[in-house]
Amino acid sequence: MSYRKFIADAMLGKLARWLRILGYDTLYFKDSEDWKIIKIAKNENRIILTRDRALCKKAEKSSIDCFVVLPDDEIEKVLFLLSKKYGIVLEVNPDSSRCSECNGVLEKLDKNRWRCTKCKKEYWKGKHWETITEILIRARSMKDTYGITKDRGGKQGKRNEVIENS
Ligand SMILES: [Zn+2]
Repeated sequence: MSYRKFIADAMLGKLARWLRILGYDTLYFKDSEDWKIIKIAKNENRIILTRDRALCKKAEKSSIDCFVVLPDDEIEKVLFLLSKKYGIVLEVNPDSSRCSECNGVLEKLDKNRWRCTKCKKEYWKGKHWETITEILIRARSMKDTYGITKDRGGKQGKRNEVIENS
C-alpha cells in the first residue's frame, strides 16, 4: 500500500481532520500563502488539497500533485474520491490514527484509549466513534454506487451505438 502525505489549505480543516483520523500524515494551516503550501508540498512530497483552482495550476507547474475539493461535495464524497484517486483506505484503526488536532502520532494507553504524543490530547472510542464509522460506511458504499453507475453507463452507451447503427 502506498503511503500518501497531504497538505490541506485553510478552507479544508474538516477534511484534514478526517485524513488524520484515517492515519494519513496531513498538514493544515489556518492561514497560509500559496507559495508556502507549494514549497512544503514539494519539499515533503505532499499532495495539496485545496478549493483553489489557481493554486492547483501553480502547483502542477512544479509537478506537485493537487486535488481540488468542490464546495458542494459532502465529506463522504470527498473521501470516496480520494480513495479512488490515491488509494486512501476508508477504515479507521486507532492504533495508526493521527491526532485530529495537531497531526501528532498517537500512543496506546490501554485497550480503548490513545494519547497524542505531541499535544497530549486523549482519544477513546466514545459516541463520536459511531458517527465516524457511519460516515465511512457511506463513503465506501459510494464506491459501489459509482462503480455500478459507471458500468451501466458503459453498457448502455454501447447498446445505443448499436441501435443507432442498425
Ligand atoms: Zn495532538
